[in-house]
Amino acid sequence: LLTALDDASLLRTQALINGEWVTGATSFPVTNPATGQELAQVPNLGRPEADAAIAAAANALPAWRAKPAKERAAVLVRWQQLLVKHADDLARLMTAEQGKPLAEARGEVVYGASFLDWFAEEGKRVYGETIPTTDPTKRYLVVKQAMGVCAAITPWNFPLAMITRKVAPALAAGCTVVIKPAEATPLTALAVAELAQRAGMPAGVLNVLTADAAQSIEIGHVLCESDVVKHLSFTGSTEVGRILMRQCASTVKKLSLELGGNAPFIVFDDADLDSAVDGAIASKYRNAGQTCVCANRLYVQAGVYDAFLEKFAAKVAALKTGNGFEAGVNVGPLIDEQALQKVATHVADAIALGAKVLAGGKRVESAGGHFFEPTLLADATPQMLCSREETFGPVAPVFKFQTEAEVIALANATEFGLASYFYSRDIGRIFRVGEALEYGMVGVNTGLISTAEVPFGGVKQSGLGREGGRQGIEDYVEVKYLCLGDI
Ligand code: ADP
Repeated sequence: LLTALDDASLLRTQALINGEWVTGATSFPVTNPATGQELAQVPNLGRPEADAAIAAAANALPAWRAKPAKERAAVLVRWQQLLVKHADDLARLMTAEQGKPLAEARGEVVYGASFLDWFAEEGKRVYGETIPTTDPTKRYLVVKQAMGVCAAITPWNFPLAMITRKVAPALAAGCTVVIKPAEATPLTALAVAELAQRAGMPAGVLNVLTADAAQSIEIGHVLCESDVVKHLSFTGSTEVGRILMRQCASTVKKLSLELGGNAPFIVFDDADLDSAVDGAIASKYRNAGQTCVCANRLYVQAGVYDAFLEKFAAKVAALKTGNGFEAGVNVGPLIDEQALQKVATHVADAIALGAKVLAGGKRVESAGGHFFEPTLLADATPQMLCSREETFGPVAPVFKFQTEAEVIALANATEFGLASYFYSRDIGRIFRVGEALEYGMVGVNTGLISTAEVPFGGVKQSGLGREGGRQGIEDYVEVKYLCLGDI
């Protein structure tokens, strides 16, 4: 891996606390999901280091918060430029530890970096307000202040962008942060932290704690139960989100949660079928189906059901599965054996309940890698596991429906409410269905919706708060009301 990098010093294998690179008493391995090979060992930190990182962030807070937003923005913009400058190396690190195809990894670097310059600008516009008085002797003012020390626990599916999407608004608002990246993908996080150092991030403003699965739970306790930490942002499963929410009750901490989804992807009779097929491919098979906004259930109206399946099956069969470093690969490995087993279970369950396999359907035999064939299942039903749970893999179950009312009811019959998609050229239907879907995000005639400028987030059990957009910085500021008397 080292020899593959243009700048070998981006392979960081120490954690970052108070501007110092630190090792721990023990370490844990980072492996390549395409080969099973060990890439590096990183520190397996725990409670003492979490306490030290929180203390460092608290010490750094007064000076960072006191800077004009424009000065904080300058650091963020330099950081963004460094991420883009080193995009190829960051992509190599990401593909090595996460598996996604190199072109997708490079795309994530640029997307992830864009949160830094977006929030650098938004930080300059954290406006307060004056409220017309109802008492001539008083004046009412509202200011917004940085919340304080913030914690971020991030997942492995977007090892870079899930860090910048949380850290950029926090830092722009004047907060300092402690990050606990996913145990599967710490190398990308550490390289990003190295570039923050080069951009001139003051010591203690950004701290990164690496830990394996068991120690991550320990660090989670420390972050949730600390009185110094004022806000926790988490992206991951709904199950872990519930645990963290419960733990944060002890300190009544503010929470931002981006949790699981179960995205419906609806194709109406009046859709542009070629566009719908392309959207379904992009939404379903990107990152081997391992995104919380991936289409999980595809509903196709009876009039175009057969035509859609025929076009879609041809495109699915043409997808190339393999090591993300190989040219032309569209679908990389799943992150680990457990993820692969879940996908295999969903497919076996669907087949047992009557689904027809139109493409794929099996794991790919590979020494050490966790690959599953891009799979298309027709005639899916609501009883199947793949309809009720997020598969998080390259499997598209397709359901047939008759009416708009029927599909809206099916789409909304889940406790999740993150992303949804539909294809229609009818303007009335676009408004009706767009308004009726109980989701935080609706893609209309597109399968790709994420960008730094828009509010990303879910309703129901998919989470709390919004990331990105003008709204993304609100979670990191407190509203303070000042009442001036004796005027
Ligand atoms: P995924 O299913 O995407 O792996 P998880 O929700 O399991 O998502 O993990 C996302 C992040 O949450 C990772 O950084 C992981 O280490 C962390 N994590 C998992 N369980 C806990 C926990 N009980 N307390 C704190 N962090 C946790």
